Amino acid sequence: MAIRQDLAAEFMEIVDSLTMAITLDRERRRPLSYLTSGKDMSITAPPFLAPDMQVCQRSTLQDVHEELGDCQRCSLCDKRKNLVFGEGSCRAEVVFVGEAPGADEDLQGRPFVGRAGQLLTKIIEAMGLSRPDVYICNILKCRPPGNRNPLPEEIRMCEPFLVKQLEAIAPKVICALGTFAAHTLLKTDIPITVLRGRFHDYHGIPLMPTYHPAYLLRNPSAKKQVWEDVQQIMKRLDETKNVQRPEIQGE
Ligand code: SF4
Repeated sequence: MAIRQDLAAEFMEIVDSLTMAITLDRERRRPLSYLTSGKDMSITAPPFLAPDMQVCQRSTLQDVHEELGDCQRCSLCDKRKNLVFGEGSCRAEVVFVGEAPGADEDLQGRPFVGRAGQLLTKIIEAMGLSRPDVYICNILKCRPPGNRNPLPEEIRMCEPFLVKQLEAIAPKVICALGTFAAHTLLKTDIPITVLRGRFHDYHGIPLMPTYHPAYLLRNPSAKKQVWEDVQQIMKRLDETKNVQRPEIQGE
C-alpha cells in the first residue's frame, strides 16, 4: 500500500512538472518537443553568448582560483564566511555541479560537507570512486542568505568561473545535481523530472541531470532514480576508457 502511495505521489509530481513545463513553453512559444514520442528529448546547451562566457584560452584550476581571488563581484561576498571554490582532482573524469554552498559549506569553505554532502559522498563511493577522484563544485561560490535561490545577477557574475573550471578539468561527464544546476547549465526551464535519466550536451561534454542529494534526504524513494542516473554515468565512463577527453567548445 505504501509503495502504491509512493508511486501515485511520484506520478502526480511528474504530471505537475510536465504541466508547468508545457505552460512555460507555451508562454515562450517554444516547441513542445519533449512531448513527441520517439523523438530525442535531450538538450544541447546554447553557445556561450556573453563576452565573459567565451572560453578563449585553457587555464589551469589554479589560474581560475587566482583570477577569482577574494571575489567581490556580487553582493554575496558581504555575508560569506568562506568562498567555496570547489575541490577534487584537476583531472577528474566526473564533475558534480550543485547549486550553491549551504551553512556547513560556508563555514568550512568546502563543497557538499553537510548532510546532503555526506549522501553525495556515499553515491560517489557506490560508483567505485572517492571524493578525491572526482571534482565537486557549485554554480555559485558564496552562500545565498538563508539558502534562497541564486539571483540572475549572481549567476551572471559567478558562472564564468564555473565554465573556466570545467574547461580546465575537461571531464568526460558532468553530473548536474538538482533543478537549479541543470537549468543553469542547460539554459532551460524543463523540470528535472523530465530532464533526468538521459544525457544532454554541455558544449561537447555529456551532462546527466539528477536529483540533488538534499532532495533525496526529503524523498528517499527518489534514490532509485538517482542510482539509475549514476549507473548511466558509470557506463559512459566505461565506454570512454580509451577515448580522449573532450574540450569545452566555445563559439
Ligand atoms: S557568488 Fe561568485 S561572483 Fe558572487 S562574490 Fe561569490 S565568488 Fe564572486
